[in-house]
Amino acid sequence: MMEIKDLKKNFNQLKEILAYSNTGSDNELFISLYLLVNPKRVSKQEYTSKLNSMIVEKKSEIEQSQNYSSQQKKDVLDMLNLIKIFINEQYRPKSGKTLLLYAFKREIINIIELPFTIKSKLIIDPKPHTQILRTILSSTPKYGVLVLDREKAQLLTIYLGEIEDFIEAFVSDVPPKVNYRSQLAFKEKNILARIEEKLHHFFKYLNERLLAHLREFKFDYLIIAGRKDIIPQFLNYLHSFLQSRHIGSIFAEPDEPPSTIREKANKLIENFEKRQKDTLVDKLIDEYNTHGLGVLGIEGVVKALMMEQAKQIIFDEDFFAEGYVCQECGYISLKKENNCKYCKGKIVYYSDVTDEIIETALKQGCELVSVSGNQRLVEAGNIGAVLRFIAY
Ligand SMILES: [Zn+2]
Repeated sequence: MMEIKDLKKNFNQLKEILAYSNTGSDNELFISLYLLVNPKRVSKQEYTSKLNSMIVEKKSEIEQSQNYSSQQKKDVLDMLNLIKIFINEQYRPKSGKTLLLYAFKREIINIIELPFTIKSKLIIDPKPHTQILRTILSSTPKYGVLVLDREKAQLLTIYLGEIEDFIEAFVSDVPPKVNYRSQLAFKEKNILARIEEKLHHFFKYLNERLLAHLREFKFDYLIIAGRKDIIPQFLNYLHSFLQSRHIGSIFAEPDEPPSTIREKANKLIENFEKRQKDTLVDKLIDEYNTHGLGVLGIEGVVKALMMEQAKQIIFDEDFFAEGYVCQECGYISLKKENNCKYCKGKIVYYSDVTDEIIETALKQGCELVSVSGNQRLVEAGNIGAVLRFIAY
């Protein structure tokens, strides 16, 4: 049985899928499945019956299609059966909201849970469907951790809670020597001075390298790890540009294993992200109250999305709302209308339109911020948007 992983644990395997490009010589088809499984919103019976009906529909579509060879049809039908058995018999939802599953070459190759609710859909294409995944990943910051010692240091990056990369290892060099005579004369005093000079030289060098990596977007935020006494010394050397990205420090021994560095860093990151999200909520409410570049409540957010004004959408992760969606153009309305007011298309009832909101936002390249436990946001209507411009 394949193990279900969350986005964090699975990033390295996902890289292959993100990098996949069909050069045209390969006739294999990819199946990408999004299935809403959030236990707060759907029961197992509901999501399995949703899946089964999507599969029935796809099967008849595939069977009738002229676009696939008989081998391709057979492979796809086999994979659909495999997915059906897997979801019905083995899969148990974890903490995520939407299951994303990829099947390829008659196998289920990856299963992850996404932190957002996304409308269930089954996509069969020569390439994996990665647009939503890419948007989620692109708004996730990367944290650089400098593990620091007097003699050596190492820069690694944490992405989605996991150590992603070891960027560079640094070793302290002996600085160029000057003034031999005075060294002989003040030998003892000078040994100490040389040690300090070496450290000074090393810290300056580290600072330059960090700055270069930041400018090359190797990380967005910086954490310093090291012994208690060395951290404040090094912080004095930190360039102001790096200082503005420094989110905190953690205490670590010089040869501490990466796993405990990661654990300590993740605690710091969690607190940092919580504070940052709270600040975003405060800014949104300020914008709403003063400059008007903020809207609060679902009605305002839907309107902003329909006008393509939204830059960032901030929402409580447990929030949902009923509404109506145009089958033709995707127009979202909270009130029942007979036909779409834009294209006269058919309007369909949704027990929850937040999926549509999130998907529309992702398509427009909006940043999505899902917040939990922020009372100010809940009181302001659970959802809001920061706008790019005000429409008159
Ligand atoms: Zn419409």
